[in-house]
Amino acid sequence: MARRVGWWGCLMLAAALVAARTGSAAAVFAADEFRLLPLRLHLLRAEQAPDLNCRLQESDARRILGKINGIWKQSGIVFYLESLRIEPAAGQDLYQGLGANRSEAHLRLVRPRGSLSREVFHLYYVGQMGPNGICLNGSHELLFVKDTARLNPVEGGIDEPLPRVSAHEIGHALGLPHRQDRFNLMASGTTGTSLNEAEIEVARKPAIGFPFSLQPTDALALGARWADEGKPTQGLYEALAGLPGGEIAREAKKRLGVATTGEGR
Ligand SMILES: [Zn+2]
Repeated sequence: MARRVGWWGCLMLAAALVAARTGSAAAVFAADEFRLLPLRLHLLRAEQAPDLNCRLQESDARRILGKINGIWKQSGIVFYLESLRIEPAAGQDLYQGLGANRSEAHLRLVRPRGSLSREVFHLYYVGQMGPNGICLNGSHELLFVKDTARLNPVEGGIDEPLPRVSAHEIGHALGLPHRQDRFNLMASGTTGTSLNEAEIEVARKPAIGFPFSLQPTDALALGARWADEGKPTQGLYEALAGLPGGEIAREAKKRLGVATTGEGR
């Protein structure tokens, strides 16, 4: 029996086909369902090791973070810039000229001692290494991305490699394995950014479970405390201001007008 679908039905069918192809999730999270995670971005400089030297600038780091959040908001997860560290890499003499002999141990050694912390996600940007990015041991403290990363474009994919590679490695730190659907964030080497509902569920568990994970209302309260203590609040409020419309985003935008600025705390 023929069935009249009509233009609305056609639209719905087209949307379903796109969703099926990209594996995108239907879930949309309300502001109070979001969790905020602290992210420390490291741009490693290495005068003695050109292989290791990252050439990104502060403006690049901020643009990349915005796009990382553009990807991860589909999961109700947002990263706030805890601090941006433009700092000399450790272990430079060990890294230079290693080429294919470079190992995971060498990557661990390039982390500057003074900026380690268990309480934040660490994303280290370096010059050259084998893969585009790597998450060692599935740890939120051991994320590395090279500034020369390259990806194979897919339809609807992101417009530059670094935010995608960064978001992909964060996916590993949130417990996600690879999935070779080229439109998916966890596919190898593509510009795909979608996650399916099962992946979102997996990623949200640790995101909620980290002791430093913040609910938006708690983040607002923490921001007020930091302001009293003279600590930088801009990163936190910028993340809150990006939440889906409502009271929290409005309040964060209002406070951003008077937010303290600065690097590190
Ligand atoms: Zn991977």
